[in-house]
Formats: sequence, structure tokens, C-alpha cells
Amino acid sequence: MTAVEPEIIPPVDAAVVPRFAGFRTFARVPTMDQVRRADVAILGAPFDGGTTFRAGSRYGPGAIREASLLLRPYNEPLGLNPFAVHQVVDAGDAAANPVNIIEAHRAIEDAAAALHKSGARVLGLGGDHSVSLPLLRAASGVHGPLSLLQLDAHTDTWDSYFGSKLTHGTMFRRAAEEGLIDAATSVQIGLRGSLYSNTDMADNAELGFTTLLARDLDTVGVTGAIALAVEHLRPPVYVTVDIDCLDPAFAPGTGTPEAGGMTTRELLAIVLGLANQVPVVSADVVEVSPPYDPAGATAVAAANIAYDLLGLLVLGLGH
Ligand code: MN
Ligand code: MN
Repeated sequence: MTAVEPEIIPPVDAAVVPRFAGFRTFARVPTMDQVRRADVAILGAPFDGGTTFRAGSRYGPGAIREASLLLRPYNEPLGLNPFAVHQVVDAGDAAANPVNIIEAHRAIEDAAAALHKSGARVLGLGGDHSVSLPLLRAASGVHGPLSLLQLDAHTDTWDSYFGSKLTHGTMFRRAAEEGLIDAATSVQIGLRGSLYSNTDMADNAELGFTTLLARDLDTVGVTGAIALAVEHLRPPVYVTVDIDCLDPAFAPGTGTPEAGGMTTRELLAIVLGLANQVPVVSADVVEVSPPYDPAGATAVAAANIAYDLLGLLVLGLGH
């Protein structure tokens, strides 16, 4: 166990107050009004108006927080208690307008930007994947253009859908156009599934992304995926985890499930493989749709991935 710094408020001790008692914050960390500073802040983005198929990810942040109640302070593979040396805080949810995507994105960007400007590292919880656009706008506003690691079944680089330029399938083209991300140093892992035409992948590649298809994991494995990410990513790095990168066997609770995805263990290994190799300044976990997640398995996966991303953010701060 790492000794807790005296001015740090750690998560609620499960040996004192049972896990299922009290208000739900991520991993039972304190809220903003309990602390004087935030080194790492969790921010919910409960918006699913950018969804094109199954909705429900507006309930994602709540479900991930619920599943996170079982998380314990010591991250064994990282050899780190992320809560002991830096103040981790749950900043609650951005008040995202459910019927106006521009207003919703503005609220998410404003909430994230205030945290970034205060010096905190932000871990976003979606929400549909469109929420990564305002989260990237806020992060790049402080850190500059970002190198993106996208774990996803889909490219999310279409130009438009149903006439809208803002959806959960188009935001990374917008992010590249706005200069928020440098696609030439960005990496997509886990792509798969049926397409509209053979130009979909070519249009994506034209933006400059390096991609690793889900089926290529069979040959290069987790080690090859990590090596590819380390080779191409450049600081500052933003990691976005669309939970549909997982096979529907592991993550049924999501909006656009695709067969043939990676296992939860593979995803955790890829994220953990970035430790001490890739400096991560911000991250998000998106597309958890609790109405399609009857056993809560998707939320459990998301909570554990968020916990490891939190560890990477703490490592980036130094400890
Ligand atoms: Mn996806
Ligand atoms: Mn996505």
C-alpha cells in the first residue's frame, strides 16, 4: 500500500462504509466540493443524441460509476495507488442538452475546459462517441494538437450521416479538420464490420491514421498492437475507448455492436501496455448503453478500463 499524502482525500474505505452505501462517485473518490484541488478529474458526458442506431448511452456515466464501486485503490499491474499521491475527483456530469447536439457539446466542452485550465487531467465518461469532440476541443485548448489512440470497431471518420456533420460516426473527421488531432500520428485499433462501400476505409486512411484491424490481432497479438501504438503516437496523447471495440460477447451493452472484436483482457493489456511508454494527458470511455447491458458486464469492463486510464493519467503527472 502506498502511503496517502496528508492533504489528499482518498476514496471511501470499503472496510468502513460498505461499497453499496452512499452517493455514487467513480471509484468512491470525493466530489469537487470536498477538495481544494483536482489533479485528475472524472467528468460524465451523458449525451446520446449523436447515436445512429441503439441509443441509451446517456445512462453510461451512471452505470460506469455503479460498476466502479468494486474498484480497489491499488492498481497491481501498474504498481501504483493512483489515489494516494494525486487528488482524484469526480466532477459530476456536464449538463448536456438532450435535444441539441451543439448545445450539448458546448456544455461538455465548457465543463472539461474549466478542469483542464485548473491544471487537472480529465477522464471523460460517455455518452455516445460524439462527446469525444468537445472533450478533444477542451484538451487541445490546453495541451495543443493531440495524438489520438482510438480503440473502436468503427473509424468514426465519415463526413456526414443523415445530413449531419455531428454524429457519433463523424467526429474524428471534424477533430482532424479542426486541428484538434494530428491524424498522421494517430492510431486506430479494433476496426471491423460491414461497410457501406470499399471507399470507407480508403477515405479514413486518406486522413492519415495508422490502423490495426480487429482480425489482425490474431497475427500481431496484443504485443504487436502496443508496439504499433508506441511507434506512431507522439506526445501529447489522448486515448479514446469506444467500448464497442470489445466483442459483443464482452460488451453487449453498446449502440453499434460488431461481431469479431477483442476480449476485455486484450483491451486491458493494450491500455496497460502504454504505461511508461506513452504520456497520456486525457482520455475517455464511451458508448456504454445500460439498457442493452442486462448483466452489467459492459459497465464492468468500462469501469476497469477507466481505472487503468486513470492510472496512466497519474503516471503522466509523475508520482
Ligand atoms: Mn464504435
Ligand atoms: Mn466510436
